[in-house]
Amino acid sequence: MAYKNPTPRQVSFFSSFIIAFALGLSLFGTSFLFPVVHLAWYLILILMFTTWVFAYLIFYNALQIFIYRRIKLVYKTISDLKSPRGRAPLKEKMSDNSLDEVDQEVRDWTESKTREIEELQKLETFRREFLGNVSHELKTPVFNIQGYIETLIDGGVKDHDINTLYLRRAAKNVERMAKIIGDLEVISLFESGALQLELKKFNILELAEDSIDSMRLMAGKRNIALGFKEGTKKVFQVWADREKIRQVLDNLLTNSIKYGKAGGETLIGFYNMDRNILIEVSDNGIGIEKVFRPRLFERFFRVDKARSKEHGGTGLGLSIVKHILEAHDQTINVRSSVDVGSTFAFTLKKA
Ligand code: ADP
Repeated sequence: MAYKNPTPRQVSFFSSFIIAFALGLSLFGTSFLFPVVHLAWYLILILMFTTWVFAYLIFYNALQIFIYRRIKLVYKTISDLKSPRGRAPLKEKMSDNSLDEVDQEVRDWTESKTREIEELQKLETFRREFLGNVSHELKTPVFNIQGYIETLIDGGVKDHDINTLYLRRAAKNVERMAKIIGDLEVISLFESGALQLELKKFNILELAEDSIDSMRLMAGKRNIALGFKEGTKKVFQVWADREKIRQVLDNLLTNSIKYGKAGGETLIGFYNMDRNILIEVSDNGIGIEKVFRPRLFERFFRVDKARSKEHGGTGLGLSIVKHILEAHDQTINVRSSVDVGSTFAFTLKKA
């Protein structure tokens, strides 16, 4: 409807017209009823017209001064708040359709603020959960160390049956704490953007062979064979941070051994894509249920906590892997079937 939200001009125009029309009617009526005060019809029309013009000017200015200028102030404040600091406001000028515009601006503003609040609430929940997770993860090793040390102080240090054993156990717990703290430090460096990548050209096949060699002992303990997928063992030069990609490969291989089936195998494959190389690490292990897959890269997320801890896992490995690949502007994803196996696939830029 055109007149649902009339402009100041329209309001003034119609209001002044009604007044002028009422005046005209009363003057015509008076002239008709009391011929003594008879006024010529053209005089009445002139009076009507003059009243219309004056009333219009009065209405229009009053509306501008008392209502629209104030609304303009609100509009300007909203515009200033919406525009980022140091930049010009979104819209300096307001047309006559100001009420509509202010209404729209307020709606947009409310929507964006609601979104911001929701985002902040999510971050707050995330922060609270994260703090809870960190203290929970550190609590176990700290309590363990405390227990061993107290027993040693209470005389255990002289007991040759337990003194070395307890010291070794305490040392293992210290090692676990150091690993958690180290991993958290790496994540926080990535998140603060303080970690600089040392990009260079290198042979990814050679790096994968190195990584496989360093994992042979661990894989041997579980009788898991490590190698390359048939037909995919090709030399590719990539442009990336060699040390960080080594960390990615080590992590994926370690996981494939930890969560692989004894006597199984882990295979790496390289696939040529347009500007990238796709690298896949596949195992025929326990697999990951679909519901857990989207959460795998979250900090401290573990499908089976006991199994992860048994292998010294912190639940931070895949989170670091994701950070490393995102810092390279690359992605990682996972395909998996329970009891069949998992494939972690990531891309790297060709050199
Ligand atoms: P963790 O230290 O627990 O291994 P990660 O961040 O490396 O932490 O992995 C998170 C979780 O993802 C693991 O606890 C495990 O449940 C699951 N996971 C990772 N890799 C595999 C895999 N190859 N097969 C099955 N589950 C896996």
